Amino acid sequence: MSTGPDLSEFESYIGRNHQNRCKLGRSLDMLNDEEQELFQAALRATHLTTRALEKWLSKRGLRLSESTVKKHREGSCCCER
Ligand SMILES: [Zn+2]
Repeated sequence: MSTGPDLSEFESYIGRNHQNRCKLGRSLDMLNDEEQELFQAALRATHLTTRALEKWLSKRGLRLSESTVKKHREGSCCCER
């Protein structure tokens, strides 16, 4: 890695706010801090169904399919972890 062009500038533009996030990951930016925290907690709460999470999001104007939510929850979406 010591040779070759310095791509650090490009890499800085990859910033997690833009790339490597699924539709849900990007949509979460529209929520306020409190809601984001709440949603993260809900993702980890195993007794809550994916459908419940999807409903909660749609109430806040984020229309995402249940499968998008499911993938994000399972960690099989494209979000960087
Ligand atoms: Zn995701």
